[in-house]
Amino acid sequence: MGKNLTKRSDDYSKWYNELVVKADLAENSGVRGCMVIKPYGFAIWEKMQAGLDKMFKETGHENAYFPLFIPKSFLSKEASHVEGFAKECAVVTHYRLKNDEDGNGIIVDPEAKLEEELIVRPTSETIIWDTYRRWIQSYRDLPLLINQWANVVRWEMRTRLFLRTAEFLWQEGHTAHATEKEAIEEAELIMNLYAEFAEEHMAVPVIKGVKTESERFAGAVETYCIEALMQDGKALQAGTSHFLGQNFAKAFDVKFANKEGQQEHVWATSWGVSTRLMGALVMTHSDDSGLVIPPKLAPIQVVIVPIYKGLEQLDAISERVKPLVQELRSKGISVKYDDRDTHKPGFKFNEYELKGVPVRLAIGQRDMDNGTFEVARRDTFEKETVPMEEVVSKIEFLMEDIQRNIFDRAHKYREDHITEVDNYDEFKRLIESKGGFISAHWDGTNETENRIKEETKATIRCIPINVAKEPGSCMVTGKPSPFRVLFAKAY
Ligand code: AMP
Repeated sequence: MGKNLTKRSDDYSKWYNELVVKADLAENSGVRGCMVIKPYGFAIWEKMQAGLDKMFKETGHENAYFPLFIPKSFLSKEASHVEGFAKECAVVTHYRLKNDEDGNGIIVDPEAKLEEELIVRPTSETIIWDTYRRWIQSYRDLPLLINQWANVVRWEMRTRLFLRTAEFLWQEGHTAHATEKEAIEEAELIMNLYAEFAEEHMAVPVIKGVKTESERFAGAVETYCIEALMQDGKALQAGTSHFLGQNFAKAFDVKFANKEGQQEHVWATSWGVSTRLMGALVMTHSDDSGLVIPPKLAPIQVVIVPIYKGLEQLDAISERVKPLVQELRSKGISVKYDDRDTHKPGFKFNEYELKGVPVRLAIGQRDMDNGTFEVARRDTFEKETVPMEEVVSKIEFLMEDIQRNIFDRAHKYREDHITEVDNYDEFKRLIESKGGFISAHWDGTNETENRIKEETKATIRCIPINVAKEPGSCMVTGKPSPFRVLFAKAY
């Protein structure tokens, strides 16, 4: 099991693909670019959903659901939006199949052509703003704070399980506001909410920032983002929150009467995180033995494995374990007692290591005699013999300590991989060797940004928000630069 996994240092990318499949998170399907999320992977996604959903609701948002299909004319209404998504749209042209008279089996019925083609949503701004026109008349209807949990389709050419798939699951928030200021505040609020979720629940440290013009969402005025760093030194965009200005309100003619009775266009935001977060979780914490899942997202937080000879011993151990299982459950800790007689303890140990279960308890005859459990933590592999009456408090401690420890570990790696560079040759050398984020001066032009991308494959991940802005000169052209930006190769 865990032992057969490719090592990260040998081939990071292969390690990731193998781990996702072997740990039962997901697998490729019969449909190009689309994955099957397996029960264990889906259980982690459900925990992410639950955590985020609670945070959305606590900040005043409500869930709703909009159609999967978008009439082509809707998508075309906002010019830069359609331009950005046109290349990756799946298009429905017909609504019926039929038996081919020439005996070629089932074919698309040419007589069942749709009058207007439908796009499988790559994102839902257009269908939602077409709806908001009917929902918004007056300032009293604002703000409108809606989220939907959905699937979307973007015809990606190069796909990877969770990180980039053609169909993916996500949430998309779409809000409408009376003022520009309020909409910008909303976009920032969500960026902060995403950062809090990533750090507190996923134990993934992130950098908050804004995108440059070329990396901005199609149709946005400003794109806020959170960027994470994977263990191979590549960055991953973990979430985005867009200030859309009045672009969609103008395209869909959404106006409201302000307090003075005058008609104004509505201000908008949209924001999303996707199943890509699963990829971020795996790539940030896991090791050569398998997944390392933070306790807050672990479907099984504690597994108990009995070590026994004969069913009589197993019965005695089970009697000892039962009250412990009950006590842990009453404290909201998810426990699995794996008393399967079909597998050996060693096999079970490997399996739970591979699946990243944060804490493993083992109990054998010696523990029965001594009134103890063996407690092992997944993040450090440390083992300890703990008296029975202290096991619950030990586990409660470990739930917090493991969560904190893996965050600290990832944070240290991230901090060790942010390098300030003032010289382009040094930049090229570092991007190829150490990787990570490189903080450098850039002259603010698309040309220089593109040149760096072509020559090094590194992109500007973001203009970080919470750092002092000291001016300097562009590492490539020497032209003035108001502040440093963060570059990295990215997924
Ligand atoms: P966007 O609507 O482009 O701002 O993307 C919203 C969120 O979905 C971001 O967090 C992206 O990182 C993520 N995302 C974009 N494309 C994909 C994809 N093909 N597969 C998985 N996640 C994606």
